[in-house]
Amino acid sequence: MIFHVITIFPDYFDSPLKQGVIGRAIKEGIIEVNPIDLRSFTTDRHRTTDDRPYGGGAGMVMIPQPLAKAISSVKREGKDAPVILFSPSGQLFDHQLARELSCHKELILVCGRYEGVDQRIIDRFVDLELSIGDYVLSGGEPAALVVIDAVGRLIPGVLGSDESAVNDSFATGLLEHPHYTRPRRFIDMDVPEVLLSGDHKKIEEWRRKKSLEITLKRRPELLEKANLSPSDIRLLNQLKKEQDKG
Ligand code: SAM
Repeated sequence: MIFHVITIFPDYFDSPLKQGVIGRAIKEGIIEVNPIDLRSFTTDRHRTTDDRPYGGGAGMVMIPQPLAKAISSVKREGKDAPVILFSPSGQLFDHQLARELSCHKELILVCGRYEGVDQRIIDRFVDLELSIGDYVLSGGEPAALVVIDAVGRLIPGVLGSDESAVNDSFATGLLEHPHYTRPRRFIDMDVPEVLLSGDHKKIEEWRRKKSLEITLKRRPELLEKANLSPSDIRLLNQLKKEQDKG
């Protein structure tokens, strides 16, 4: 999969993309990140990418010409990739959307700066406006890293067999159960006995119960869409009763 990233800060991506599973996947050629310097599509001496807003007001707006040229240059190479613009007003990014995006061979990610981009770029060139949360970043670059990471880890071969994404939070429709590792006792806290039992069925039941418990406590709205078995529903009813009592 190739992520083309249009940005005024192409160097921004150097170090983060050398690390961890995504760094390894890039090294192995499973995914490719292609930062595109927006300034190389400017025509003036100052390599200008922004101007004052029509109608007045604070801040600057990204001018349309370099953005249009940059997007068209990627598209011209025959790429039928969706163009995604990062924006706090966009659709909220979540696991379901990451899964949908992971089905494309290439994505074109456009990083805004200043007050954002000229609306005509959105109207003519953008397929999807995407927000990574209800807060304002100073630029789309951190959002691009979030999307590359979340989508990238869903590409076959990016995670090793012992790092499968199938049980991750949200992948099952629920939040994930807690994890424990060595030592068995830390300060005055012990690893739950069931995890040491070697009884795989009991361990799975305990993990499922914890997953349901955490989801019920922190993100109850996720339960409405989750794929729940009759035993999950029984457990949930029990947990709700305990919650009401406690
Ligand atoms: N004036 C804009 C507003 O109030 O919606 C904020 C612009 S922000 C300072 C500059 C750029 O950062 C945006 O154009 C966008 O590309 C990116 N950005 C900021 N917050 C974001 C978020 N929550 N999700 C995705 N991108 C974001």
